[in-house]
Amino acid sequence: MDASSLQTLISTIRDVPDFPQPGILFKDITPVLANATFLQQAIDGMVEISGLTKVDKVVGIDARGFIFGALMAQRLNAGFVPVRKKGKLPWKTRGIDYALEYGTNHVEIHEDAIAPGETVLLADDLLATGGTAAAALHLIQGLGGKVLGSVFFVELAFLNGRDRLSDTGPIHSLITY
Ligand code: AMP
Repeated sequence: MDASSLQTLISTIRDVPDFPQPGILFKDITPVLANATFLQQAIDGMVEISGLTKVDKVVGIDARGFIFGALMAQRLNAGFVPVRKKGKLPWKTRGIDYALEYGTNHVEIHEDAIAPGETVLLADDLLATGGTAAAALHLIQGLGGKVLGSVFFVELAFLNGRDRLSDTGPIHSLITY
């Protein structure tokens, strides 16, 4: 992606102070999603930095990761697998508890969503402390998925989230703060 398109994407992300809790500066990516050109550029950019042309499954994290992940899966001719919050998946699940930037969480995956040996790319909107992504990667590996990497639209580098993902393949972010 060229520098001026990237700069436009960055300036389209809306900073919302004190959401959902005091002290959190929330990066609102919905203005990017709402613009046809910016959405396409975001997905093109994320596919490009993944360095992949083929993968079996893209895993997206509840909820904004579904948007980026599903669109990336379509570009990569891959299936899409959701990692969801507790109690949302109807079939047999594997789950994990973890801490995040604000509060704690529990995520789940369908136990038949990834076959042993399938290649997997993880996608989410934003890498903060890395707790969510680390949990999702743990679930993927627990099913025998071969993680080829993780792609984020935004990374808050000052939270050092990528340190928690150091054993699970390359980490790529389109925009870094
Ligand atoms: P973490 O587990 O700390 O890496 O948090 C990542 C998840 O929480 C991502 O799925 C984001 O959607 C969300 N998140 C955490 N912090 C922020 C933030 N400052 N702005 C927007 N989303 C955030």
